[in-house]
Amino acid sequence: MNLIKDYKDASIVKKLISLANQIELDRVYNVMEICGGHTHSLVKYGLINAVKNINFIHGPGCPVCVMPKQRLDEAVFLASMPNTIFCTLADLIKVPASNTSLEKLRANGCDIKALYSPLEVLKIASENKDKNIIFFAIGFETTAPMSAVLLEKIIQNNIKNVFFHINHVKVPEPVCALLDDKECNIDGFLAPSHVSVIIGKNAYLPLAKKYKKPFTISGFEPVDLMHSIINLCLQFKDKSYEVYNEYSRIVQDEGNIQALNLINKYFKSCDFLFRGVGVIKDGGMDLKDEYAKYDAKKVFDIKVQTKAENKLCKCPSILKGIAKPSDCEIFAKACTPAHPVGSCMVSSEGACAAYYKYIKA
Ligand code: SF4
Ligand code: SF4
Repeated sequence: MNLIKDYKDASIVKKLISLANQIELDRVYNVMEICGGHTHSLVKYGLINAVKNINFIHGPGCPVCVMPKQRLDEAVFLASMPNTIFCTLADLIKVPASNTSLEKLRANGCDIKALYSPLEVLKIASENKDKNIIFFAIGFETTAPMSAVLLEKIIQNNIKNVFFHINHVKVPEPVCALLDDKECNIDGFLAPSHVSVIIGKNAYLPLAKKYKKPFTISGFEPVDLMHSIINLCLQFKDKSYEVYNEYSRIVQDEGNIQALNLINKYFKSCDFLFRGVGVIKDGGMDLKDEYAKYDAKKVFDIKVQTKAENKLCKCPSILKGIAKPSDCEIFAKACTPAHPVGSCMVSSEGACAAYYKYIKA
């Protein structure tokens, strides 16, 4: 198949939708797409309501969306320090913390950079030897290896002015928490693509077995998604709970061993507060103790006072899969991408941003 043209072919997608709807199911099944990228693809290609017995619920798979306010406040504290260049990835700078956002701080003169690659930090550090460079690392297992490579290069080159605030999170642990939570009612999962490239298909086997739920690792294109949805429908019909790898053109059973070794070399597991989902045991990563001199949390005396979440914002329930953006009374009114109230409207992978971009518009 042509990787670009054929995976988007509308005639193939229509046939697959028709096939999916011919599979007789005894009820409506709730499928959580863990990854925010899948949420966007499902909404963008009109697949979100395409199969009559499948109800998609959105999950905690966007690293910006799940970042708790306290960590954002810590970012604001670090970025406000004198003689500092603060670096992070992507949309994080737009998310409101308790009193401001990194974007507003930047407008007020703080040196805050949104990078495309963590390795850009090396150049920034060498050109600004008299300043402290803070790297606020975010992302699931996908981006953690890149943070590890950055740390490795910093150690090798004896760079002394770079400090890390690690906010990497993991996928399997929050999935377990959702399955243990009686409020959540999930029948099966579309498992993420990029994360699965790193952790591999085998990472889901214990979850499928323990909770008796099917997982299908899916690509992002509409043909990928429909293929995966059909697989889930067939598993629901057969009452099976396999891990199926639709994205086998990229995802291996064992994952990316080199990347996993890098993660294990520099990071240890830690409990992590996921916005909405709560504190997940071993759900995050932090620097190992031997790298404490690079740890911004240990080097700087960070003091923050975190305010409660805006009560009208339904992000916590959306990230748990028990509400949809359309359930939020300020969606597309007081909360828009230009004036976001919660993280799900900010992030390019957020569910509210997807609904606003493709449905509201
Ligand atoms: S990094 Fe990729 S797999 Fe992870 S949430 Fe984003 S789009 Fe999904
Ligand atoms: S629309 Fe805005 S306020 Fe409502 S849940 Fe989404 S991000 Fe929160």
